[in-house]
Amino acid sequence: MNPVVDYLRISLIDRCNFQCQYCMPEGAELEYIRKQEVLTDAELLTLLREVFIPCGFSRFRLTGGEPLLRPQVVSLVQQIAALPETQDLSMTTNGFLLADLAQGLYDAGLRRINISLDSLEPEVFNRIIGNRGRTRWQQVWSGIQAAHRVGFDPLKLNVVVIPGVNDHEVLDLAALTIDRHWHVRFIEFMPIGNGNLFGDKGWIDSETLRQQIHQRWGLVEARVRGNGPADVFQIPGAKGTLGFISQMSECFCDRCNRMRLSADGWLRPCLLNETGQIDLKTALRSGVSTRELCAQVQVLLDLKPAINFKQRESGTVGTYTRTMSQIGG
Ligand code: SAM
Ligand code: SF4
Repeated sequence: MNPVVDYLRISLIDRCNFQCQYCMPEGAELEYIRKQEVLTDAELLTLLREVFIPCGFSRFRLTGGEPLLRPQVVSLVQQIAALPETQDLSMTTNGFLLADLAQGLYDAGLRRINISLDSLEPEVFNRIIGNRGRTRWQQVWSGIQAAHRVGFDPLKLNVVVIPGVNDHEVLDLAALTIDRHWHVRFIEFMPIGNGNLFGDKGWIDSETLRQQIHQRWGLVEARVRGNGPADVFQIPGAKGTLGFISQMSECFCDRCNRMRLSADGWLRPCLLNETGQIDLKTALRSGVSTRELCAQVQVLLDLKPAINFKQRESGTVGTYTRTMSQIGG
């Protein structure tokens, strides 16, 4: 049976204050969305109230680019959280602006947050995020501490493991969960935007990481709220958990319950497949009724199982030229 698709990942902005190698590769031709093409707060809220919620969506994740760069992001969070049908609201952020915004976001109704943290070593971190000379690790760490202090729960840390760059830190990152109620999730690197970035070695599969951690401490199965596609484990006795997101080594397209809305209003049924996507912003601005848009989204929902990324297995989907930051990761 196909899963109920009720989860929308909303990109608030395609710009970012970092330039992670795996997301916005240096040299990639990035064309930013012009400001006037970005959905306004009012348009986004109209789409949520009159299109997505009637189509059955009730769980929303705010992402980007870097969502905290969106002007008046706290007010927008407050308005989405206040929709009576919103059952779950979360955000994925690089954490750089979080130290100042954590309390406001929490007060606005955000409760779940994922913060990207690929390294505990400032130099390695800088290398990954593409900021030569400027140390941003400490600022991100302060953001994580602030999120912890104000009470975000679960607080998840996303780690993309890159061979030869940060794979030596897997145990140190896993160890963060022993004394802290934090959830570290290891994400397999996906060949989006620049598939050859890390050469033949490419990516490390979750099973290898799991074995490494298991050999050191042992692992038991666990659960965490909103675990999505992650397989969740725990170091015995640890306060937090470890998640493994294995979209490269284990295709979980059959379980996919999400769609993505880009900052300029394109609704995309699958991360890596543009088939069927709808330009909701242009339609809305040209006066198409939200009732009609609802019908179009419904058609896309019905098509989704056939569109999913699993087509890669039959070789019909190739390399992806759009980066994660452009799609809305
Ligand atoms: N800027 C925010 C952040 O970094 O958390 C939100 C957007 S980012 C595109 C969302 C997530 O996608 C991050 O956790 C990032 O590590 C992950 N990501 C980006 N490019 C990726 C890739 N090629 N493979 C796997 N994960 C990727
Ligand atoms: Fe920016 Fe997030 Fe992409 Fe890094 S992963 S470049 S922080 S959008």
